[in-house]
Amino acid sequence: MNATVEQQYDALKKRMERATSKVGRRVEEIHVIAVTKYVSIQTANEAIKAGISHIGENRLEGLLEKKAVIGDGATWHFIGSLQSRKAKDVIGHISVLHSLDRLSLAKEVQKRLVEREKTLDCFVQVNVSGETSKSGLAPEEVDSFIMALAEYDRIRVIGLMTMAPYAENAEETRPHFKALKQLQQRIADKEYVHAPCTELSMGMSNDFEVAVEEGATYIRIGTILVGNEQVSE
Ligand SMILES: *Cc1c(COP(=O)(O)O)cnc(C)c1O
Repeated sequence: MNATVEQQYDALKKRMERATSKVGRRVEEIHVIAVTKYVSIQTANEAIKAGISHIGENRLEGLLEKKAVIGDGATWHFIGSLQSRKAKDVIGHISVLHSLDRLSLAKEVQKRLVEREKTLDCFVQVNVSGETSKSGLAPEEVDSFIMALAEYDRIRVIGLMTMAPYAENAEETRPHFKALKQLQQRIADKEYVHAPCTELSMGMSNDFEVAVEEGATYIRIGTILVGNEQVSE
């Protein structure tokens, strides 16, 4: 029999405990986002029952489908790249956007937030590895991008997000997470009102322990937590 989400969450917490204790952090400093893009509404519901309060989706359709059932029982995160034309549909349904990566998107998001009289917590996505298949800003573009975001007063930059390239040996991801942490700290030190930039969204099933050791405050976990129903289990 397959492990339940609850069992997998317990196993994840144990691994988080080991990783945090190695570097003198506490598990409570880290928010676990269950990434439900590969799984059914029912499985997403199991995550909520297991006590997980953050759900991440990377497509509008998946977000709407799950939110229709789970509703405000979770905090909703949009973690996928967002096409500007879909922003108007996504914005009303999420608390956090992890993939802000261009001013044209910021402009569209701002417009939709003004209409709704809302503000939105956002992560700026950074491509720290330079891998061409990954989206996000180059590290050297981040400072000027964040300065330019001051113009969009409905957007609050709470931190930086990255996806490390997949590595057989997770240790290889460490330099990327370290680089993101340094960049985040440098921006936080500027104390921008619109960009406190205190958070780090980094770490997935394959590399979250390294990300936690390097300072992640949000980890985005799919496969090892809720499973991946697209591959045989
Ligand atoms: C799919 C996805 C995840 C989760 O990936 P797993 O390897 O299944 O944990 C995390 N972040 C983003 C942006 C994703 O698209």
